Order: sequence, then C-alpha cells, then structure tokens
Amino acid sequence: MAKIPHRLYLTEEQMPKQWYNLRADMKELPDPMLNPKTFKPATEEELYPVFCEKLAHQELDDTTRYVDIPEEIQEFYKMYRPSPLIRAYNLEKALDTPARIYYKYEGNNTSGSHKLNSAIAQAYYAKEQGLKGLTTETGAGQWGTALAEACSYYHLPLTVYMVKCSYEQKPFRKSIIQTFDAQIVPSPSMTTEVGRRILAENPDTTGSLGCAISEAVEKAVTTDGYKYVLGSVLNQVLLHQSVIGLESKTALEILDEYPDIVVGCAGGGSNLGGLIAPFMQDKLLGKADPKIIAVEPASCPSLTRGRYAYDFCDTGKVTPLARMYTLGCEFIPSANHAGGLRYHGMSPILSKLYHDGYMEAVSYEQSKVFEAAVLFAKQETILPAPESAHAIRGAIDEAIKCKESGEAKTILFGLTGTGYFDMNAYSAYLEGTMTDYVPTDEELEAAFAKLPKIPGIQ
Ligand SMILES: *Cc1c(COP(=O)(O)O)cnc(C)c1O
Repeated sequence: MAKIPHRLYLTEEQMPKQWYNLRADMKELPDPMLNPKTFKPATEEELYPVFCEKLAHQELDDTTRYVDIPEEIQEFYKMYRPSPLIRAYNLEKALDTPARIYYKYEGNNTSGSHKLNSAIAQAYYAKEQGLKGLTTETGAGQWGTALAEACSYYHLPLTVYMVKCSYEQKPFRKSIIQTFDAQIVPSPSMTTEVGRRILAENPDTTGSLGCAISEAVEKAVTTDGYKYVLGSVLNQVLLHQSVIGLESKTALEILDEYPDIVVGCAGGGSNLGGLIAPFMQDKLLGKADPKIIAVEPASCPSLTRGRYAYDFCDTGKVTPLARMYTLGCEFIPSANHAGGLRYHGMSPILSKLYHDGYMEAVSYEQSKVFEAAVLFAKQETILPAPESAHAIRGAIDEAIKCKESGEAKTILFGLTGTGYFDMNAYSAYLEGTMTDYVPTDEELEAAFAKLPKIPGIQ
C-alpha cells in the first residue's frame, strides 16, 4: 500500500456543499432555550431582536438534517479551505506509539482559528437581511478577528467587546481587528449600562466572556439596525462548524481510515461539535462507535465539574436561558489562566450528548497543556494555540495508552489554531513562572448557588 501522505487536501468537488445538523439525529433533543421572563421556550420571533432571522431559524431548527451552504459562503471558504488533514508521523515517532495520529488543522487563515467558518456565515446572513452593523464579544481574540475579516468582506460595521485581561495581554489583537476596520472596546466598559454596573460593583475586574457578551448584546439591541452575533456555544455555530468534521471524514475515507478516538478542545464547544458531528452521527445511528473526548482546562472545568442546569449565557443575565453544563454565569476563571477556553458554560448540544453518555470529558492543568504544546511544535513545526494544545494533550495521552496496550488505534484530533498571539503565555511556561489554578469545591458551590431559580424546573 502506498505510504499515506503527510497532508491531504480535498479537491473543490470533494468539499462539503451542505452543513450537517446533529440535532436531527439525536435520540433526545437538548432542552429548549427559555425566555428568561416567562420561562417558556423561546420562539423564533422572540430571538429576532438579538439575532438575524435566518440564524434564529437555524438556532431552533432541530429537524433539518442537511442545510445547503449558500454559494457565496462556499466561494469564501475556497479562499482558505479545505483545511489539511495531517498525519502526525513525527509526533507518533517521538511518542513511540503504534497509534496513527491525524489532526485537522484550522489555523491556516488570518484569524488563526476555525472561527472564520462561522463568522463568514453569520456576516453573510446579516448582510442578506440588510442590517446596518453587528456587535460581538471576544475572549482570546480569534473570534473578534475572524468576524472583523468577515464583516470587512461585506462592508458591515462591527463593534467588538474584548475581555479586558486579554485586551491587555494581547495588544496586537487590537491592531489586527482595526486593520479590518472594526471598532474594539475593552470590557467591561463605560459604553453600556451593564458595563457601568459591573464596574461599579467590582472596579478592578479583569472581565469575563460572559460580561463582554452582556455588553455586546446591550449595544446591539439599543442600536438601530444592529444585531448581536456569537462565535461559539449556539446551535447555529455548531452547524457551521460541521464543515470541519465533514471534510475530515471525507479525507479519512480517501485514506481508508476511520477514527477509533476523536479528541477536541472544548471552550464553548463549537470546534468540538463541528469536528465530531459526522462521527457522532454514526454513533447515534449505530454505524460506528468511536470514543469521543472533550478536553477542557482544569481552571474552567464546565463538563467535568459543572452542573447540568439552566443558566444564562452571559454574566449580565440578559440572554435566554440554556440548559447546559455550567459553572454558573458569574464564574470568572483565575486571571493567571492563559490557556483560553474560559467560558462558564458549554454548548447545549454537547452538554446533552455528554449527559446521555455519548462522549467523555477530561481536564488538564495548563502546565501539562503547554508541555504538550511545546512537544508538538518541535515535532510538527506548528506552534499551536493554547486552546488547541488541550486537544494535543488529550491525543498524546491516548497515544501513550496505545503504546502501553500495544493497540494501533486511529486517533483524530482538532488542531484549532496557531498561538502567535499567546507568546506571553509561552514565555511564562518556558521561564517556569506559569502557575496552575484549580478552583476549589467551595468556589464552585458559591457560583452554583447563584444559578437562576426556575419555577417547576430547578
Ligand atoms: C475559540 C477557540 C477555541 C474554543 O472555542 P470552541 O467554541 O470551544 O471551539 C479553541 N481553539 C481556538 C484556536 C479558538 O480560537
């Protein structure tokens, strides 16, 4: 048999023409999103003040299995897709493992991550609806960059609320977002009511994703012709990101491979949900039984230590309520956590699948994650984003288990992006000043105590 190539790129004909909606094949659906005022399931119309109409439809559509990718989005995808499926020959050798390790590399675009896959879709639907502009939040900065790229392509004004501690840690994110004509505001800020309230209560706060979301939502609903868009967590985002998994599955089929294990990092769950989508479909339909592993930081462990409960998607408590694994919307991970994946909750789709036993989750402290990042960079010549390095850590540990058991399993993991804007974190690791922080049970209990009370439900 011919040696498997290092990198496999699909042809344009082989690229997906439709996204795949995992909900259509779930035995039990995630619990519905609730209107926080009535505690009734939110309707499509109730989402219109915040979301674009087509995206509100995708958000609540549990039945359409395949959704056509609009031609214009397919054309945009061709500028940076297909992303390569790479065989990690050197990493395998370094680990001395019989496992075959593949990774899907999403860092080949300026945002440095998979985020552009959904950003372009969301900007497209906003333009189609004739909106005047968009707002969003960004944590580490990849989503803000991706959306700035997408909005600039459609000449749509954009305001990005960036979590203050990352705004300060990563000054060049600002320059790059401004290169694409977007406005960037460190959050919490004095530009919104919720920002002013949070600052009055806690003037030294370093911000959180949940808080930046509240500000972006407020700005959108109070500005004529503006809507809010979100880069993860939501069902619509998982739908768009299914392109990652669909491409991976086709590429593996060409190589006559099927993964025994699929590993991804989990922040809000969008890359993982996208990567696993067609493999989870096989699992749901009883066609295959791959082991699926979510990897999260020990400092923000929503799946491994969170509660499966209804919660707000933001700290300011202005969004609908979603049932998900959550640390409580007021949970703010330690500021010394540099590895990304700082969101308090998890995609309701992934939360449900995890709750029902279709996938597993593990957590790692950041020093273990950076150890894997550096090993991987040296073997594979890609400097991974700290977020992505969680998946690398998970994949390496599975490959080491294969070495111990002598099993030649096929492992697929998602390499979501590059770490060029994370050099402060790399320096801290290399200089030995990086510390690990794991929240105590008491801290988590204090956050759980503030979960919303919902009559008859929780
Ligand atoms: C945003 C991001 C993540 C985490 O977000 P998910 O929605 O969980 O995928 C992971 N890796 C990179 C590089 C990111 O930019």
